[in-house]
Amino acid sequence: MSKMITEQNLRLLIDTLVKEGARVVGPRQAGAMTLYEPLTKGDDLVLDQLPRRSAKEAFFPVCETILSFERKEGKTTVQDVDVCTVPETVLIGARPCDAAAPGILDAVFSWDYKDEFFLERRRRTTIIGLACTKADDACFCTAVGLSPAEMKGADLFLTPLEGGGYACEAPTEKGERLMARHPQLFDDAGNAKPLPLAEPAVEKLDLQKIKAWLDGNFESPLWYGIADRCAGCGACAFLCPACHCFDINDEGTADKGERRKHWDACGFGKFTNHASGHNPRDIQNKRYRNRIMHKFKYYDDKFGQTLCTGCGRCIRHCPVGIDIYAVIEEINKMGARDQGPGTGKD
Ligand code: SF4
Ligand code: SF4
Repeated sequence: MSKMITEQNLRLLIDTLVKEGARVVGPRQAGAMTLYEPLTKGDDLVLDQLPRRSAKEAFFPVCETILSFERKEGKTTVQDVDVCTVPETVLIGARPCDAAAPGILDAVFSWDYKDEFFLERRRRTTIIGLACTKADDACFCTAVGLSPAEMKGADLFLTPLEGGGYACEAPTEKGERLMARHPQLFDDAGNAKPLPLAEPAVEKLDLQKIKAWLDGNFESPLWYGIADRCAGCGACAFLCPACHCFDINDEGTADKGERRKHWDACGFGKFTNHASGHNPRDIQNKRYRNRIMHKFKYYDDKFGQTLCTGCGRCIRHCPVGIDIYAVIEEINKMGARDQGPGTGKD
């Protein structure tokens, strides 16, 4: 039988989980911004704002120590960080564009090298997704195959109801277990209707057509026109739920320190700088081209998925106004022209 939860009980669920010792992460007010951050009580939860940054930090922190080292009297000892210390976590209030992203990233973090820091957090995290009842001009989830009601990636999914409260669906066993552990907080759904959801004002794009155009246009003049504006600030990658590049650095001294993973971005000038000084992506348009190629071609070539959930953050916050939706919409049109009428999928 489908269930519902009142807003009061949703906040009580957070209080209960915190008391049980779980780390609960969700949208909360942080100064002038809303961010996904640890919640200490139910009243912290902000339900009507898309957080400025994505929820990927719950699985992939900006910076994390992976080992520490110390050299004493000529002998070096290395201490690995134990991933079993990762706390049980509930990520609550994740919008569909954020809830879908960790599942897309599973492919790369469990590919040739198993990144247990990411994977252990994935295993120990339950995601409570939340349908969107408002979209802004930058949202385009529907263009890349998701939707404001998309449950992909969510263990439990909440849909706002007319008259208050949320319909609850549990697409996974993790979600069912969470509901089963707190039965007093959930009621039978009844006849309440869902609130109208927010449809972004965009056309659905043909991702296969876009990929086919990218397959044949590594040297297109398109890259010069767009990318010469890019300031290489990396904001788009850092805000993105699906960007996942990182660097590994040793911090400290030769005698004592830590090895850390840090987020990196293909927009940065030194991202591909070789030790020799040669840089195969020596100008910004090559870096911006890589951003588009990685999201809409390379990741698909390798893992059969698109590396963009249409959250719109990189559009909202690009300091020079580069609009990734406009770029791929243009490529979509060029792909349609290249293939001629009636040859593409709808
Ligand atoms: S946010 Fe804009 S300027 Fe900064 S790297 Fe991304 S596309 Fe370039
Ligand atoms: S590329 Fe831009 S719109 Fe797509 S998921 Fe990343 S930040 Fe969101």
